[in-house]
Amino acid sequence: MSETQKTTASDRLSAEARSKQFGAAEDGGIIRCDACPVLCRIKPGRAGACDRYANEDGHLVRVDPVVLLNHTIETGGDVVAFAEEAWEGKPLDPARTFVTGIGAGTTYPDYKPAPFIVAADHDGVDTVTVVTEGIFSYCGVKVKIDTDRHLGPETAPVRANGEQVGHVTTAEYGSQMLSIGGVRHLTGGSKKEGNVTCRTMLDLCAGEPVTLSIDGGNEVVVQAGKAPIVDGKREERMRVGCGSAAIGIFAQQWHGHVDEVIVVDDHITGVLTEHQAGKVLDMPAAGIRVRGRRSTPGRYFQVAEPGLGWGGTDITDPLEVISKINSDVAWPGLRILMTSTTGEDAIYCVLDDDLVPVPAPMPDPVRTVVDRIGENCEPSLCSVLFMAGAGGSLRAGVTENPILLTRSVAAGETRVTMGGAPAYLWPGGGITIMADVTAMPQGSFGYVPTPAIVAPIEFTLPSRLYDRLGGHSGDVVSIYDILSTVAPEARVETWRDDNPWPFNSGASSGDAGPDGQEP
Ligand code: SF4
Repeated sequence: MSETQKTTASDRLSAEARSKQFGAAEDGGIIRCDACPVLCRIKPGRAGACDRYANEDGHLVRVDPVVLLNHTIETGGDVVAFAEEAWEGKPLDPARTFVTGIGAGTTYPDYKPAPFIVAADHDGVDTVTVVTEGIFSYCGVKVKIDTDRHLGPETAPVRANGEQVGHVTTAEYGSQMLSIGGVRHLTGGSKKEGNVTCRTMLDLCAGEPVTLSIDGGNEVVVQAGKAPIVDGKREERMRVGCGSAAIGIFAQQWHGHVDEVIVVDDHITGVLTEHQAGKVLDMPAAGIRVRGRRSTPGRYFQVAEPGLGWGGTDITDPLEVISKINSDVAWPGLRILMTSTTGEDAIYCVLDDDLVPVPAPMPDPVRTVVDRIGENCEPSLCSVLFMAGAGGSLRAGVTENPILLTRSVAAGETRVTMGGAPAYLWPGGGITIMADVTAMPQGSFGYVPTPAIVAPIEFTLPSRLYDRLGGHSGDVVSIYDILSTVAPEARVETWRDDNPWPFNSGASSGDAGPDGQEP
């Protein structure tokens, strides 16, 4: 550990020290908070506009506790014996404790070093984790909703409480996608639009249910990690695939039990006997033509309008999909299965003597395959990813030369986490990251009334690299000091085992060698 890392926590973390660093005393015991551009003047015993900072006996304090994450299983690093250090706090193992940005405080007006710059020894490598809460004006929420149901036209405005807070973006395989928030809605519209957008993002990131309505579409209740509710109906299944894919997957299992299968899908409706899967099985043509535009054999686009019916179409009577039955090809007694892409809707018909499809009881072997479609559907869920640009001023809390941090993150030498959750880094310029909000601890997000979202962010890197990046080495504090000072009032949670431990060798260390030297 370098000399600069031996700064004691008490110098830096006591309420008195913090009050000198953050906030300014004014007449009448008022403290002016400078943790964000709002600059609240807070009376004694009161909190600021965001409820995150308060005036406590003349000191500006962060109201929420810092969140520490405790890894309960072997992390792969050397376990440090408590007796070797002046450890007097809670029984937390420094080698297994991660200090998150939750409750840490911010660096505004930006040039201040991050609230916690934590030095620790992991697996023989001296590491530094720079911990802060970022104030993100440039941020948004990407929502993936596993459903075939039509939520609204692409690019349609998405509203909360009547205000536009985002738009429908490109649908993905089995999922409708929404883009919520963003700097334009936060700052470019009315004050109400900005505030409602901020509130909507905050609720989504907190895992709360949020009701969104889509112009020209429907209403959906979105909650991270839960099933979507579309126009009051809870979705159960994410489709097995598009109509063509379902034909390909189950063709052999249908063979011999039906003469034709039509899988109704808003995007690609599949017709078994025309499809290559049916051809390979030597199935005879059935002479049943479906509506829409034929793309390739057995694959039809635009068989209906999008909607809340079968396979994301507006169809509730599946026989509407059939445009023509060719009497030269079809025959009385021909057996037809029509199903949706989830198997939730299915009908079995037999052509009568006039070649009219007549619903009939579904034979067991056909029912078995329909049930298997359902069995192969995953549960329908909402996924909420917070996306933000961390390549701006918050870098000044990490280093005096921010471009070096950007380059180090891009090179994979510095790992970025949000409340300990892994952050996906977009290629290209800046530090544009995304994180799954369900992988983050509860209460990770806050806001300031500018409006902007406050979110935790941590940068973990080898300490020698931190020095090289122009880091605030004089503000580095040992994990032992952090734990003895902060832990008694911290909120301690268990590390989620499905999140990669940021200190694992090769994960973030810039491929530091076993002796901790960068290559
Ligand atoms: S809104 Fe919160 S962070 Fe901003 S100045 Fe007021 S109390 Fe401080």
